[in-house]
Amino acid sequence: MAGVVVIFDFDQTIIDCECDDWVVEEMGATQLFNQLLPTMPWNSLMDRIMAEFHSQGKTTEEIAECLKRIPLHPQIITAIKSAHAHGCDLRILSDANVFYIETIFKHHGLMEYFSEIHTNLSFVDEEGKLKIFPHHDFTSSPHGCSLCPPNMCKSIVMKQMQSSASVEGRRFIYIGDGSGDFCPSLKLGERDQVMPRKNFPLWELICKNSMLIKASVHEWSDGEGLERVLLHLINTISIEENNSSNYPQLISVDCKFGTIPNSIRENTFLITSQFPTAAKD
Ligand SMILES: [Mg+2]
Ligand SMILES: [Zn+2]
Repeated sequence: MAGVVVIFDFDQTIIDCECDDWVVEEMGATQLFNQLLPTMPWNSLMDRIMAEFHSQGKTTEEIAECLKRIPLHPQIITAIKSAHAHGCDLRILSDANVFYIETIFKHHGLMEYFSEIHTNLSFVDEEGKLKIFPHHDFTSSPHGCSLCPPNMCKSIVMKQMQSSASVEGRRFIYIGDGSGDFCPSLKLGERDQVMPRKNFPLWELICKNSMLIKASVHEWSDGEGLERVLLHLINTISIEENNSSNYPQLISVDCKFGTIPNSIRENTFLITSQFPTAAKD
């Protein structure tokens, strides 16, 4: 198969929680977090929380140990390995940060399965403090997308991926849960697939705005569902590509598996200015 590109969100998609929330709660920063939340963007707030940990003598090793305790559904792990074994090109597009994602992937032996990780920048400075930076520098060059939080518009990364010569003609499967995953879902084409997590913000936005989505929609609820739907889609695309190369006129494959019922998809509304603009993905 000519390598399908599978793009995963991270929080509430690969892991079953928001890693920022997990770190804040596990390391006892909930009160400070709630106090500062109304005063600054999420991304800047997490950088501020990390500075607070450092001033309290909490090390990046402790933050890493905390991240390693985040449970990963076993079928998410098998889904990643199976998709990779089928020749898919797996990528991360996340509003978390490099330190979190690499710590968790290395802990579970998953780094090697992903060709690209696009997320907020982070590094440990010379004092041992974890610094977190926005993906887009919103002070000098704001991305200008009204749908997305200031630190990251996933569509900008999606468009760069789509225009890359290495993915020309290849099909995309996008898997996510949050409102920040809606903007890149709008960029998918008719031959692509989007897998929104059922009853999460992306799923709700797609249900309300289905006329704007060109890709086929396939919902999932948990690790078991993600694996089942993803591997079915990969198999379906594989059969379709084989058929089209041999008998272009005979393509007829079941693309309805796990889709949102038409009765829901037809209940559409146009996007309005009430759209969530800065919700954490
Ligand atoms: Mg998410
Ligand atoms: Zn956007």
